[in-house]
Amino acid sequence: MTSTVSLIKCTTYDERAVAGAVRQAVDWVGGIEKYVQPGQRVLLKVNLLRASAPDEAICTHPAVIKALVTLVQEAGGHAVIGDSPGGPFTRGWVRGAYDKSGVTQVAEETGAELNWDFGQTHLAHPEGKIVKGLEVGTYVTNADVVIALPKLKTHGFMQFTGATKILFGVIPGTVKIGYHSKFPEPARFGEMLIDILTLIRPALTVMDGIVAMDGQGPSAGDPFRVGALLASADAVALDVVAATLVGLDVRSIYPLQAAIDRGLTTGKIADVSVVGETLDAFAIQGFRAAATGTSSRGIFNLLGDVVRHQIVAAPYATEKCVACGICVRNCPEQAIMIVDKRARMDLSKCIRCYCCHEFCPERAIELRKPWLGRLLGVV
Ligand code: SF4
Ligand code: SF4
Repeated sequence: MTSTVSLIKCTTYDERAVAGAVRQAVDWVGGIEKYVQPGQRVLLKVNLLRASAPDEAICTHPAVIKALVTLVQEAGGHAVIGDSPGGPFTRGWVRGAYDKSGVTQVAEETGAELNWDFGQTHLAHPEGKIVKGLEVGTYVTNADVVIALPKLKTHGFMQFTGATKILFGVIPGTVKIGYHSKFPEPARFGEMLIDILTLIRPALTVMDGIVAMDGQGPSAGDPFRVGALLASADAVALDVVAATLVGLDVRSIYPLQAAIDRGLTTGKIADVSVVGETLDAFAIQGFRAAATGTSSRGIFNLLGDVVRHQIVAAPYATEKCVACGICVRNCPEQAIMIVDKRARMDLSKCIRCYCCHEFCPERAIELRKPWLGRLLGVV
């Protein structure tokens, strides 16, 4: 059956404009009543990668979250806003992300509940392809309905952060680190993301693509005005539309390639029913992919790690490093030490997951491609 994705223009974070556009986008895929019944506990799974201000384009913008809260409440649902940012899944750490990203203010203005449940449980997933069970936050399992609110961004490791990547946040805090160790190869990590998607099965996804992030996403790229909101019951189809909209090669995105391999999508925009605006109406130009080299799937599948590491980008801490230690605590391979007040990466241990780059609050980590990667023009 053809999946439907709604696509609407919205070029501002003015709350009234966003509220109207989100309402329209959701109406085009059946209306909020199709997804939320009165009395249901509805988790709005937002992207709160780390404590960052809305104009940094790292987290889902609070205006988009507020618009969804309003719709859920109008349908009689109880809206809960939650995510597990990188780092420890603790009250103090999460509060910092809520406050700086504007989520606390959304909760105060709307009466939505902020998640303070830091428990976890094991969910069996017998249908999973490579993951037969997962540690998941109880804030997710206690919800009757999950609505995902991703931000449109590039991603150094997966190439794209969207509806299929955002659900990695259902794995609590530092437990996520173990999954990077277990699946260091990007194609396998992409497969794992699709296993998470098929386990959690969000009822609806609404993507904030008003100001996206290109280049060194998901946290060290540049804000890029795309001016789009998207909504769909099919997270994979939504990512196909969003990636195509900004000019990314769908097959270069690991979770989408995994979804293609499983027959969840053809990966072709022609096979998705896009309602609302046409993609041509946006005429996006100059959106930069994440130039880390990990998108060279064919090469990855053929080469071992030794050769691969001569091609793809490696992390280096620059003089901006303040020796806070966040990268040290989030490295799945214990490949980082603080030496002379600066982070030093042991590249012989490094699996190129780029978690350090993602979580560094100072944007102090550069991803440098080795000479062979530059020579081969690998992107
Ligand atoms: S590289 Fe960034 S995260 Fe790591 S210690 Fe330096 S400032 Fe902190
Ligand atoms: S050094 Fe950075 S890129 Fe390498 S394994 Fe550690 S977190 Fe991942």
